[in-house]
Amino acid sequence: MCYQVVERYSVCRCLYYKHAVDPCAAYGQSGHTVQEKTVLVGYTCNSHSSHRTQLGYGMGVLPDSGYESGAYPPTR
Ligand SMILES: [Zn+2]
Ligand SMILES: [Zn+2]
Repeated sequence: MCYQVVERYSVCRCLYYKHAVDPCAAYGQSGHTVQEKTVLVGYTCNSHSSHRTQLGYGMGVLPDSGYESGAYPPTR
């Protein structure tokens, strides 16, 4: 099984960095899948930082830290 490390912000779940796939011997064969490994980093990205409250989007208010519904859509 191949692994691909995907780093995400722990609060807003935006993508921080997507690493290259670490291939195994079966890479490229039919039915073979790549397992994503999510690594949480920091808190929020720049666009979801609480310092950007002057933006005119409808989702200007951030939830408190600990909000973990997993269904939090990106702003754009
Ligand atoms: Zn593999
Ligand atoms: Zn974000």
